[in-house]
Amino acid sequence: MKISKIQTQVKQIELKTPFKTALRETSHVEFVRVHVEDENGYVGIGEAPATKAITGEDIEIILNSIESVREQFLELTCKETLEILHSTCSIGSSAKAALDMAFISLHVKQKNRSLAEYFCIENFTPIKTDVTISLNSADVMLEDAKKAYAADMSILKVKVGSDVLHAVDIVRKITKELLHVQILVDANQAWSFEDSHFFINNMFDAKIELIEQPVVASDLESLKKITEFSHIPILADEAVFTLADVKKVMESKSADMINIKLMKCGGVTKALEILEYAREKNITCMLGSMLEGPYSINIALYLAFAYRDIIKYVDLDSPLLYKEPSSELDFLFKGCEISLKK
Ligand SMILES: [Mg+2]
Repeated sequence: MKISKIQTQVKQIELKTPFKTALRETSHVEFVRVHVEDENGYVGIGEAPATKAITGEDIEIILNSIESVREQFLELTCKETLEILHSTCSIGSSAKAALDMAFISLHVKQKNRSLAEYFCIENFTPIKTDVTISLNSADVMLEDAKKAYAADMSILKVKVGSDVLHAVDIVRKITKELLHVQILVDANQAWSFEDSHFFINNMFDAKIELIEQPVVASDLESLKKITEFSHIPILADEAVFTLADVKKVMESKSADMINIKLMKCGGVTKALEILEYAREKNITCMLGSMLEGPYSINIALYLAFAYRDIIKYVDLDSPLLYKEPSSELDFLFKGCEISLKK
């Protein structure tokens, strides 16, 4: 069955409260949605949010990238489009991810199968996502952490910034007040080697699961030294986009774990390659996302269920931030627990 139509639209979903980072404040999730249709009327949907600081793509760039390759996919099968997309298309990783998931979803529909069947999911026991505690003053962050815990969210991803004293302060406060939460610390490349050293040395009596991307992505040498020194596992995020990056980081022992995101690697096809490699090498993974729409979260969640043996951490909390629950989700969120809708 050949592809007859590829259309894009820009969608927004309102958030409960504005999402704040050091770079921006936003009240909506904004993303490009791609509809791919075949000659029999079957439709596959993919999505990509703008995360210029990470992938270099804003909404305009994603739209233009998809437009620039659209024509060459018409009249082809899903299998043919996926081959071309990942061999000759030089577009950004988010635009690629949106097209990849649309083609795969369409392929699954054409075969009259569900995505759960396609990914060979056998175990439907609910999984748990972390929930993000945004960077703010220590008091506000502690309040947010308490609120999250009271709402049954027991895995907290605490965002910290370049002020390492603040980072030590807030993490110590949360671990002291909330004894039963799992704490993941994400520095988003904000620290120097010395900052990382300082933070880790101040955490011997605080229980933390992991530290995510302490130093800039390009500084693998420091990342490796921190990993060697740290009693807390180190997780590489911005340092690993592709399978080649993952191999480089793991073979050089520059990190203990990796964070896989569809928007970084270029979609499901590429995420599967990384996950298969991780399974073979027994590498612990986090499956993460940007602030994303329901269809890209859906497909990431199918992967999290299918690879639960190596995905120890799930960072897919975007739907928890939506103002209204999305009817387009295939999954139910209850606190941090996620199960497939019946
Ligand atoms: Mg991260």
